[in-house]
Amino acid sequence: MSVIPPVDLTGQFRTIQSDVNAAVAEVLASGQYINGPIVETFAKAFGEYVGTDHCIVCNSGTDALYLALRSLNIGPGDEVITSPFTFIATAEAISAVGATPVFVDIDLETFNLDVAKIEAAIGDRTRAIMPVHLFGRPVDMGPVMDLATRYDLAVIEDCAQATGAEWMGQPVGRIGQVGCFSFFPTKNLGGCGDGGAITTNDDELAATARMLGEHGSRIKYHHEAIGINSRLDSIQAAILAIKLRYLNTWNQQRRQVADRYHGLLAPIAEVVRPQPVTFGQSVWNQYTLRLSHATATGQERNRVQQMMREAGVICMVYYPLPLHLQPVYRHLGYQPGDLPQAEAAAHQVLSLPMFPELAESAQGQVVQALKTALAQVGLKAAQYC
Ligand SMILES: *Cc1c(COP(=O)(O)O)cnc(C)c1O
Repeated sequence: MSVIPPVDLTGQFRTIQSDVNAAVAEVLASGQYINGPIVETFAKAFGEYVGTDHCIVCNSGTDALYLALRSLNIGPGDEVITSPFTFIATAEAISAVGATPVFVDIDLETFNLDVAKIEAAIGDRTRAIMPVHLFGRPVDMGPVMDLATRYDLAVIEDCAQATGAEWMGQPVGRIGQVGCFSFFPTKNLGGCGDGGAITTNDDELAATARMLGEHGSRIKYHHEAIGINSRLDSIQAAILAIKLRYLNTWNQQRRQVADRYHGLLAPIAEVVRPQPVTFGQSVWNQYTLRLSHATATGQERNRVQQMMREAGVICMVYYPLPLHLQPVYRHLGYQPGDLPQAEAAAHQVLSLPMFPELAESAQGQVVQALKTALAQVGLKAAQYC
């Protein structure tokens, strides 16, 4: 039985293999493995892609978020508003600088922050809003930017899953003060290892982020702050520079994959499909549907996932436990029921296999496996009645 994985990076690699091998060989021969010239070349190209004056590359998306927060001088005593329905790195970065994440519920239709609920969470200690463009789908940034202006807050976009996504014709990552990107292999622009970037039009913020990511130094061996070591390897920069040229094509292919799922899933009543974006373009890092009949235990969803796995289709659950209920945030005092939309999402979501090269025939298999699993779970549920 051929298995359909959630993501397959090998097919894409084969299409650019000779270019990548040559670029890596060039770096290896150069001896400049850290901060080689290709790092600045890629940073410049990525900044141009996003459309910001500055792009600072670093070791990961997590570091990008951390450095952005530090550069805005956000730390102990400060609060940052963000989504509870995201990868831990978003909130982890807030905690790592000593600030406190304040979780605002999501909109179940978009899985993104419910922008109508942000204002009620703004208090004396609020310094920033950190919207996450989850699964490749842009947040409706208009209301976020309005609030930021009215309350004098920074906006840090977590663009880790949304490289190339657009809000009102603008790439994400240049709408707020600062955009944070990840080049983790499974992101839309992924390297062959870790990597990240910060984009901004703010000269001072850019200089500070660069300084903090280089051990707090602007001049070699002169240190003005406790920074970190966060650089993008030359080899990764060389690979990313090649891949950046294909990013728009690959994102377009992801849209086609999403469109096909949309059509194939239309007749399935148990499934709520991701809604189209009205104010921009998603880049479909994930194709995530909801099983609206799933109960609060997530048990039915888990059984559907398991049965699909047995049929050779590997689906993922992003994310099974929202951040406000994670053990690590117990001290913040959130209770189950506090953020009901995020909690509902956690037990309803299922991410189908999604990558640019996913074949139409494989998508047919995915949807067939889903239908069969739904029928089986429905039967079993009926037997218990
Ligand atoms: C992947 C991811 C990150 C972190 O990126 P890394 O490069 O893995 O450190 C941050 N936020 C979100 C939403 C992510 O998906």
